[in-house]
Amino acid sequence: MDAWPEEFRADIVKRLQERGMNRPCGRCGHEKFTLVDGYAVFALAMILEAEHAERLLPSVCIACARCGYLTFHALAALGMLSENQPLPPGDGAAGEPPQL
Ligand SMILES: [Zn+2]
Repeated sequence: MDAWPEEFRADIVKRLQERGMNRPCGRCGHEKFTLVDGYAVFALAMILEAEHAERLLPSVCIACARCGYLTFHALAALGMLSENQPLPPGDGAAGEPPQL
């Protein structure tokens, strides 16, 4: 698959807009962005000496159309992790990010 289907991309954009993602780029102030096809998956370890990732944090990536500044949004926060999704090795996918 070279690119996500347009309907799927539109759903992600809708989810981001519903959560108030409507501010200009944090680096250059531009107001146009591109949804990057493909998940960005962060490997998490509880200690730096860990040999393997203990948890995976899947996200979608948004790129500023002018400067390329990248921002990431966790799938869990977007309501995109299903209960039946296969778990990655280790503890499983990271759930909701902690509230600060
Ligand atoms: Zn920018």
